[in-house]
Parts: sequence; C-alpha cells; structure tokens
Amino acid sequence: MSQALSLPERTTVLIVGAGPVGMAAALSLHHQGIRDFVVVDAILAGENTSRAMVIQAATLEALNNIGCLDGILSIGVKVQEVGLHYGSSYLLTADFSLLEGRTKFPFGLTIPQAKTEAKMLEKLTELGIKVWRPIKVVSVKPSQQAADQDCFDVRFDSGEVLKAKYVVGADGVRSVVREQAGISYKDPHGDDNHDYGNLSQLVLGDVAFTSEPRIFTQGNKLSLTLSAGNMVLLAPFPPAASPDAKRTVYRLATSVPVEFGTAPSEPTIEYLQRLIDRHGPMELSSNPAINPHPTRIDKMYFSSRYKTRSAVAESFFAPRKAGQGGGFTLLVGDAAHCHSPIGGQGMSLGIRDAISLGPVLKAHIDSSAKNSGANPDKMFEEWSATRRDRAFNVVALTKRALGIFTAQGKMWPPFLFLMFSVLRFLGGFKFVKRNVAYRLSGLAEI
Ligand SMILES: Cc1cc2nc3c(=O)[nH]c(=O)nc-3n(C[C@H](O)[C@H](O)[C@H](O)COP(=O)(O)OP(=O)(O)OC[C@H]3O[C@@H](n4cnc5c(N)ncnc54)[C@H](O)[C@@H]3O)c2cc1C
Repeated sequence: MSQALSLPERTTVLIVGAGPVGMAAALSLHHQGIRDFVVVDAILAGENTSRAMVIQAATLEALNNIGCLDGILSIGVKVQEVGLHYGSSYLLTADFSLLEGRTKFPFGLTIPQAKTEAKMLEKLTELGIKVWRPIKVVSVKPSQQAADQDCFDVRFDSGEVLKAKYVVGADGVRSVVREQAGISYKDPHGDDNHDYGNLSQLVLGDVAFTSEPRIFTQGNKLSLTLSAGNMVLLAPFPPAASPDAKRTVYRLATSVPVEFGTAPSEPTIEYLQRLIDRHGPMELSSNPAINPHPTRIDKMYFSSRYKTRSAVAESFFAPRKAGQGGGFTLLVGDAAHCHSPIGGQGMSLGIRDAISLGPVLKAHIDSSAKNSGANPDKMFEEWSATRRDRAFNVVALTKRALGIFTAQGKMWPPFLFLMFSVLRFLGGFKFVKRNVAYRLSGLAEI
C-alpha cells in the first residue's frame, strides 16, 4: 500500500533509492546534523539477495566514522586472506592482516548484502529516519513556481509532487535521477561491447555441498581459482548470516564459457555443478576420478547471473541550470558507476561515495544560507571529480583483473607456466601480500 499521502510537500534533500548506498547517504546526512531530508524507494521492501559479499577496510572505516559499524561487524566474518590459485597450485595471497597499523580494520568483512542492508535499516529506524516506500520517482524538473525557483519538482508514479533543493540519486544502474539530469553513463575507455570472453557473464549461487569441500576457505580465507580462461570464487558465509544453521553455506561465483551462450537468470544446481566440474578447483569436483573426496552441490539458497559491464557517469554533480532554476543533482553508488564484481569493490565504493557526500552537502547548505558571495558549487565539483577518480581507479583495477583472468586462457602454455612461476615467486614476499591487500582494501583511496 502506498504511503505517499503523508509524504511532506517539500524537503531540503531528497534521497532517491534506499539500497545500501541510499541508506549510507541518509546515515551520513544525519551524522552531519542535517534533519530535513526524505528517503524514498520504489520497492516495498529491500531486495533480499546476497549480491555483494565483502565490505572492504576503507568502507568499514567510513561506516565507523559515522557510528554505523557495530551492527554490521557483529554478524560479519573477518577474512584475513584471499588466495589466488591456478587449478590446484597456489599463486599468491592478499593478506589483510598485514594492514595492521594502517587501519583499525585489517581484514575484509564477509557479510551478505541483504544483511548489510538490514543492519543499516535498523540503524535508520533507531535514529527515527523513515524510508518511504513503495514510491517511485518518475521525473525531476525545475519548479515552475516563482517562489521555488531553487527547487526541483520531483514527481512520483502516484502523481504526487515533492519540492527538493537537492536530489541525491542512489537509484542504481538504471538511475532515473541521472537520466533526468541528462548525465551520460558509459564505459570510460569506450569499451561499450563489454566483451570479456568467458568473464562477460558470471553466475552466482549460495550453496551447501553434500560433504564439506576440502578447500582453502578454512581459517577465514576466500579462494579464487583460475583455470584455462575461467575463474571460480568461493567464500564461506558468516554463520550469523547463513541461511542454514547446520552446515557451511558458500557463495560460489564462476565465469560462463562463451560456448555455453547466455546463462539462465536463475541458474539451477545442475547448471552450476556442470560449470564447477568443468573448470572448478579439484576439491569441488563431483568426479571421483579427479577428486579423491568428491562432493556435490546439495542445496541452493539463491542464484543469479551478472553481466559484466563498466560505466562511469560523466559527472556525479549537476548544477542548477542558468535561466531554468531548479535544484542540485548528486549521484552516488551504482547510479554513478558500475563495473565487474571481481574484487568485491562495487558496494564498498558506493557506500564511501555516500558517506563522503554528507559533509560536502552540509557545507553547501550552510554556505548557501549565509549567501557569502563565494561559489559553493565548487565544493560539489571537487567532490564529483574526486569520486569519479576513485571510480576510474576501481574500473581500471577490475579491468586489469579481467584482462589477466581472460588472457590466461589464451596463453602459450610455456609462457603461462613462466608467468605463474614469477607470480608464485613474488607471492612469497610479505610486501607483495601487503600491497595486493592494500589495493583491494580501498585504503589508498579514501
Ligand atoms: C548479481 C549481483 C552480484 C553482485 N555482486 C557484488 C559483489 O560481489 N561485490 C560488490 O561489491 N558488489 C556486487 N554487486 C553490486 C552491488 O550489489 C551494487 O554495487 C550495490 O547494490 C549498489 O548499491 P546502490 O544502493 O547504489 O544500488 P541498488 O542496490 O541497485 O539500490 C538502488 C535502489 O534504488 C531504488 N530505485 C531505483 N529506481 C528508483 C526510482 N525511480 N525511484 C525510487 N527508488 C528507486 C531501487 O528499488 C533500489 O532499492 C552485485 C550485483 C549483482 C546484481
């Protein structure tokens, strides 16, 4: 049932979208002392899917800075290492424990996205912040009333209109806010056909096995296994967030060989099993000729498909248009950027966009109220340029990983052997383990 009847008629800030990023934006505004804001979302309840599974150290720092980390920390599992393997041989490790001294959080936190969102919603409720839903924004136009020239008229699918001075688009990849502001969203390297070979599609499943796979996930590790142009990621669910109390549930993500065609949007157990028997690590195989301790996927709690693409908005900020009035548009999260989930960066980066926007928005509101003659829009321009830079870096990082993962399928075997021998040699050094962890943690880019 729509709650739109009691929505206020005007607000200073409207946040469109209450995914993890929209909620982080609301928490950040509240932390800055801003109280006049409204959060709306098009769907009746948050999406109950695991999607992002890891929160990086830099994002844990940002959430902690606004006092919103405790609930999330209480159910996540602290992962010390991500191991990269080729088939059954070890290549290198990102060791987050080596970040001790650089961060209060020298680990990655595994927690399914739905649980992160649930904890954020709990915090919003505790602070008395309401998410209005289901309320879908359909247009954002400069107000035509003379007295409200500095506002947008934001129209909802119910036909109602809300006036807002600032509209924060946290409305995901297909952002209406971005589209209404006329901001383009494309691959920063002009790579618009998104052809990453087998890695053009990933399929994901939250699964339990007939018997515990004897694999390197024990001891709070994640494993990423490459094999002939494919990859398989395995991450154990935190017990406090697991859909099964009796046995370990794993997030399994794997590439889809090109010859398999388009993957089903909700892959079955048989589909995933076929893929891991084909190119997964030996320890996950159901074939006794390959795996001395064969195992099979026994139950699936959730499955999905992800089509790899990268895009960054041309700007994360649209100023008031000269001669037309209206308010300011700001973009955060997937509305501003998207890229492959390899490296688990997307949600973490989006939450940092949102948290960093809080103080800038507060400073802009204060400065506009004082009317000091200075140009407050410069703050938004600088914020947008910095956040775009961060997004470019993450897009480049994920593309580099995609490049390496794809190339290993095409390499001349002796060259591949040589490359992996070098990697294995380098991977033995502490500074390499630390540097890889540092790159993944986002700490270089807060
Ligand atoms: C299958 C899959 C796997 C993924 N795996 C990972 C991973 O391993 N690691 C990682 O970091 N990321 C991963 N991601 C990406 C991650 O889920 C996103 O980066 C994250 O959800 C972005 O959050 P967001 O709040 O910006 O957008 P969303 O989560 O998309 O939320 C947008 C919200 O806006 C609302 N909305 C949309 N339009 C309107 C409108 N017109 N009016 C009002 N409300 C609106 C929607 O209902 C939604 O609630 C994955 C994504 C998918 C699909």
